[in-house]
Amino acid sequence: MTILKNYINGEWVSSSSNETIDVLNPASQEVLAKVPYGEATKNDVETATKAASKAFNEWRHVPVMKRVQCLYKLKALLEANRDELAEIITNESGKTKVESIGEIQRAIENVEVACGTPMLIAGDVIEDIASGIDEMMIRQPIGVSACITPFNFPSMIVFWFLPYAIATGNAFIVKPSEKVPLTMMKIFDFIDQLDLPKGLVSLVHGGKDSVDAILEHPEIKAISFVGSTPVARYIYSKGTANGKRVQAQGGAKNPVLVLPDADIDMSAKIIADSVYGCAGQRCLAASTIITVGDEKHEIKDAIYETVKSRTTGYGWDAGVDMGPVITSESKNRIEGLIQKGIDEGANVLLDGRNASVSGFEKGNFLTPTILENVALDKELIQTEIFGPVMSLISMKTIEDAIQFVNGGNYGNMACLFTNSGASARKFRNEANAGNIGINIGVAAPMAQFPFSGWKDSFFGDLHGQGKHAIEFFTQTKVVIERWPKAWSRKF
Ligand code: NAD
Repeated sequence: MTILKNYINGEWVSSSSNETIDVLNPASQEVLAKVPYGEATKNDVETATKAASKAFNEWRHVPVMKRVQCLYKLKALLEANRDELAEIITNESGKTKVESIGEIQRAIENVEVACGTPMLIAGDVIEDIASGIDEMMIRQPIGVSACITPFNFPSMIVFWFLPYAIATGNAFIVKPSEKVPLTMMKIFDFIDQLDLPKGLVSLVHGGKDSVDAILEHPEIKAISFVGSTPVARYIYSKGTANGKRVQAQGGAKNPVLVLPDADIDMSAKIIADSVYGCAGQRCLAASTIITVGDEKHEIKDAIYETVKSRTTGYGWDAGVDMGPVITSESKNRIEGLIQKGIDEGANVLLDGRNASVSGFEKGNFLTPTILENVALDKELIQTEIFGPVMSLISMKTIEDAIQFVNGGNYGNMACLFTNSGASARKFRNEANAGNIGINIGVAAPMAQFPFSGWKDSFFGDLHGQGKHAIEFFTQTKVVIERWPKAWSRKF
C-alpha cells in the first residue's frame, strides 16, 4: 500500500512520521493509500518552511509578468488532465463525475483571474501631495504563506489562495485534508513541472499536528483556512495571537426562502440541486427551506416530487445524481441528526436512512431526506448537518422569514426565489449573509469576487479569490519622497 510522500524543496520525500491513517473510497471503503499523520509531521512543516523562506527571497524579486507565466502552464496542465483528476476526486470524496469536473473548472478560473495579477497588484501614486513631495503605495508579498483545507472540495479550495499567493511573490505551503490527499498529489505532479524555485510551493500532509506546527512557526506570515467553525475559530485565534495574518472560513446553515410568486417548478429543481448536490456536503448547500405563504402546499409538493426521483450511487457511474458522504462516522452522525429532528417534533416526508447501493453495500450512502416542520426553538434548526437532509418550514410573511434568517449563527449564504424585484431588493438589502442568491441555489462567488461569509462562517477581514486574495497576500508600503533641487546640485 502506497504511503503518500510530501513535496518539499522541489522533491517528493517521505514524511518524518511513521504513523499513517488510511485514505478510503467512501463508496466502497477500499483503502486507496496511507497518509502521514501524527506528532512527527511537525518536522515536515519545519523542513518545508525552511525551503520556502529561501525560495521566497529569490521569487519576490522576479518581475510579476514573469511570475504569472507559471500560471498559464498550470492552467494548461489542469485542462489537459481534467478527467483523470476528476476520477481521483470522485474516488476519494464520493462526488459524482459532473461535480468533480465542475470543481476543477472553478479551480482553473481562479488560475485565470490570478493571471491578472500584473494589473491587480498595482499601487497608487500622488505627485505633489505637498509641494515638491510625492507619495506612493506599493504592494509587497507578505512572505511564506500556508493553506489548510477541508475534505469537501479536494481541488478547488486550494485554488482560492495558491495562484494569488505565488503570483504576488509569496512562497506557499499546502496542508490538504487527510481524508482526501490524493487530488493534491496529482496537482503537485503538475506543480513539479513548472519553472519555480525549489521550495517555493510545498505539500505537507497530516492533521492537527502539522496544522499546529503551521500556527506556531514564526516564518509563516499568513494562513488561509477553510473547514468547520470550531476549527476555524481555533485557527483564527491561535494564528492571530502568534502575529499572523489569518483568513478562516467556517461552517454554514444556509436558509432559502421561496415566495408564492416564484416559478415553482424551476425553483424546486434548483433547490433540490442545492440541498442534495455533493450529498449536501457543500458549505453553500441549501439546508433550511422556508416556504412563504404556501397555503396550498404547491411549493412543498413540487419540492417533494423533484427530490424523490433523485438517484444515489457510485459517483463515477452514469445517471447517478448523488454519491456517498465522506466517512461512516459522518453517515452515523447525519442519521443521528435526522432522529434528533424527529424527536424534536419534525415530520419525515422522505427518510434517507438505511440506504443501500447494489455493488457498494459498504458505502456511506444515504438517500435524500426531507424533514418537515422542524422545531424553530430546538437545536437541529441551528446545527450544520452537512449531509443530504432538507429541513422544510413554512412562514406567513417575508418579514418573518428574514427575521429567521438573521437570527441564525451562521452567515455563509441566504437565497430567495421570487419574481418580484421589490422582494428581491428587500432581501438583498436586509439578509445577514455574505453570499446572497436571487433565484440561485448555490450562490458561489465566481473567481473575480471574494468568497464572502459572515458571522460564524468567517473569521478575518479579507476573503479568498479575486482582489481580496491579492490584498491578503500583499502588505502595503507607503513611501513619501522629497527630492529638493538644491540637494541634487551638491552631488
Ligand atoms: P475540518 O474542520 O474537520 O477540517 C479542515 C482542516 O482542518 C483539515 O485540513 C484538518 O486536517 C484540519 N483540522 C481538523 N481538526 C483540527 C484541529 N482540531 N486542529 C487543527 N486542525 C484541524 O472540516 P472538514 O470536515 O474537512 O470540512 C467540512 C467543513 O468545512 C464544514 O463545516 C463546511 O461547512 C466547511 N467548509 C466551509 C467552506 C466555506 O467557504 N465557508 C467551504 C468548504 C467547507
